[in-house]
Amino acid sequence: MKRFLNIALTALMTLLVSCATPSSDTAQNSGSTETCHVCKFNHDLACLCVTIKNSTPRTVYQGNTYYFCSDDCRAEFVKRPDKYAAKPTGR
Ligand SMILES: [Zn+2]
Repeated sequence: MKRFLNIALTALMTLLVSCATPSSDTAQNSGSTETCHVCKFNHDLACLCVTIKNSTPRTVYQGNTYYFCSDDCRAEFVKRPDKYAAKPTGR
């Protein structure tokens, strides 16, 4: 029983860690992470964090560059940029 708990915990940790950038060397070498605005809007926490690479899907909207976890999210954003780019704090 204890063994099962360990496995479940490990799986959970892996999920959490996959989002957080693993320590400093990755952050320094390959830039930073961004938030996928489409996933954020949909509260899809599984792929909320996007590591910015050359191949990362992106689009420019109103002078800001937005990054996405997948081409699907990018396409979704391009369809309705006003919906997804809205700043939560702005009124
Ligand atoms: Zn996404």
